[in-house]
Order: sequence, then structure tokens, then C-alpha cells
Amino acid sequence: MIYLDNAATTKMSRHAIDAMIPYMNEIYGNPSSLHSAGQLAKEALEEARARIAKVLGAEPREITFTSGGSEADNQAILSAARTGEKKGKRHIISTAFEHHAVLHTLDKLKKEGFEITLLDVHENGLVTAEQVGEAIRDDTALVTVMFANNEVGTVQPVEEIGRICRERGVLFHTDAVQAAGHLHIDVKKQNIDMLSLSAHKFHGPKGIGVLYAKRGIRLENIIEGGAQERGKRGGTENIPAIMGMARALEEAAAHLDENSAKMTALRDRLIAGLAEIPHAVLNGDREHRLPNNVSFCFEGIEGESLLLLLDDKGIAASSGSACTSGSLDPSHVLLAIGRPHEIAHGSLRLTLSHETTEEEIDKTIAAVKDVVAYLRSISPVWRDLESGKQKFITAA
Ligand SMILES: *Cc1c(COP(=O)(O)O)cnc(C)c1O
Repeated sequence: MIYLDNAATTKMSRHAIDAMIPYMNEIYGNPSSLHSAGQLAKEALEEARARIAKVLGAEPREITFTSGGSEADNQAILSAARTGEKKGKRHIISTAFEHHAVLHTLDKLKKEGFEITLLDVHENGLVTAEQVGEAIRDDTALVTVMFANNEVGTVQPVEEIGRICRERGVLFHTDAVQAAGHLHIDVKKQNIDMLSLSAHKFHGPKGIGVLYAKRGIRLENIIEGGAQERGKRGGTENIPAIMGMARALEEAAAHLDENSAKMTALRDRLIAGLAEIPHAVLNGDREHRLPNNVSFCFEGIEGESLLLLLDDKGIAASSGSACTSGSLDPSHVLLAIGRPHEIAHGSLRLTLSHETTEEEIDKTIAAVKDVVAYLRSISPVWRDLESGKQKFITAA
């Protein structure tokens, strides 16, 4: 199989798996237990916290373990909302193309009476720090803008957005789930107050993530229970997963430049190959994009059929986010960057890993060309476009 859906999830690194095993076989105590079996687990937990903090440029006490990126996003946003509310601040700024973990949490707050400003995303898939600056008001409690978009791969000017938020005294959260392992993260240098990570997006285990919250920020519990995580997140800690995540994050950071350069070269080869297909448009900025993301819309085809036929050829791809597949609505991200419905339906996202090879890329280019040509040959919409009965939206 040629696996090109690394934005949905990644294969676990061998080292991360190895780092987990002792915490299932031998050191399986509950970190809250007072006996030495528990204390060994507790030591491992705190060591992992310190190692993760170091990679992010944070302090250990600023790291809270969660069940993943979604929970971290929920907790960050709800915490900032509760803090803001106490000071009469009930306005939140975000963007129209965030992950649903962010957008649905904002919907919930909207029903509670919060006012949500969703910034327009430019056609290149970017928002600017100026847009954020213009939207900030006296009653703004939080700005939450993703580090890198999971569908079109664009990388936002996080450091500048953070600087503006800091100048204006507004909390800044970023969903960095897609950035981790691909881009350098330094929460202090990048002016980030809160940040979400998910291990399974950087070759760690599923069901574990991190919420970084700068010292002094009050976190609101969303899981009530015991005193774990300084009382901010109840539930026995998933030590094996935490150990696997710490290892995966360190490994990703250690090889970041090398892996990123390798993926960027293959990404560009793939973009160049697919751009040869007539009536194809690249989604997202050419420069400010993740080293592993390729996203296209092909006019006159259905993304779902494209995926199924690629799957038959042994290629795992996506039409956008895993969360929207299965629904017939076009992706909210593609609509946010202004892609009309007609072409948003014909989307294809291919996301690479450091293990992707040139041979796999070349096979993929050939397969996509074949499948797109075949689907167009049987498409009544394409027939109308070619005969001029309907107008093309995209350039030839
Ligand atoms: C995958 C993803 C999430 C959700 O992370 P989970 O750990 O799967 O809950 C959140 N935000 C972005 C940008 C993602 O890509």
C-alpha cells in the first residue's frame, strides 16, 4: 500500500512502540498509588512531561496530558472563555477553516451568548496578523488560529499573530496538531499562550495529546475526577501512551530539518506532476505550506469516486479531512478559501511521511492521471464542460 494520508493519522514509529512496552509489562503501576510500583510510574510520567516541555520550549508544569488534539482544543477554548467571562469578556476570534474540534466548541459558546468572529481566509489559505489585529476588541477573551491547516496545509503567521495578541493583552491559542513534527515549535519565541498537540499525527500512539498552557493561565476541567494533572484533568494517566508520545515527539524534533527537506522535495515533485492534469488547481499557498501536504481540486469529477478508485490501485488518499468524509457536503475548508461547490467536490489531499519514496510519488502521479481521465470520460458534467454547454471554472 502507498499510504498518503498522514494528515489523518500516521504509522507509529518503532522507537515509540518500544518506549511503551515496559510501561505495560513491568512498570504498570498507577501513578497515584503510594507504593513503589506507583511511584515508578509517577517518575516516568513526570520525566515524560519534562521531555515534552523541553521540545516545545515550555516548562513541565505548563504541560497537561489530554486524550488527544480534540480534547486539548476543547479545554483550551473553554478555559479561556470562562476566564474571559469573569471579566465581562465574551468575544472570541478564530478563522472559518479551523478543525471541527475548535469550530464546534465555538458553536457551543455561541449558544451561551459568546460572540464569535470567524476571520475570512484568503484564497491562498492564509489569514494575516493584521486581520487579527483589526478584529480584536476590548471584550475579546481569546484568539484561536490554527498553526497549519489539516486540509490545504497552509502555515499561518503564528508568531506575528501571537505578538499582536500579546500587545493587546488577549490570550492566544493555536491548534498545532498538524504542525508538530513538520515545523519548529517554540511557544515562548512564537508568543503562544496555549497550544494543542496530538501524538498520532507525529508517529506516536492514538488517544493521547498535550495541552500547553502558559504559567498563570487557569485551566477549566472538562473531565471531572481525581487530582491527576494538578486537578485539571481527571482520570488515570495513560502512561504507555505518554511514554510513546514523548519518544515520538523527540524523534520528530531530532530529524525535523532532514525529514522536512526530504518531504518538501517529494511534495514539489507530486505537485508538479498533478499540475499537468488539465483543469486542476492547487489548494493553499505554494510557499507557506506544510512540507508534506498536497491538495488539489479537479474540475468535473467526484472526490469520493477518485478515492475509491485510487484505493483499488493500492493508494490511500483523502478528499480532505477524515471528519468530513462520509458526508456529502463539500469541505468547510475548501469553501472557506472560496472554492465553488462544483470544484470543491473534486478534491484530493495527499499527505506524505518521511518514509514516502520517489517511486511511490511517481506511481501516484500516474495513478491519479489515469483515474481522473477515466472518471471524466464517464462524467456527464465533463461532457457538458467539453462541449461548451457549461463553462469551465478552472483554467485548462
Ligand atoms: C487530527 C486533528 C485534530 C484532532 O486530534 P485528535 O487527537 O484526533 O483528537 C485537531 N486538530 C487538527 C488540526 C487535526 O488535524
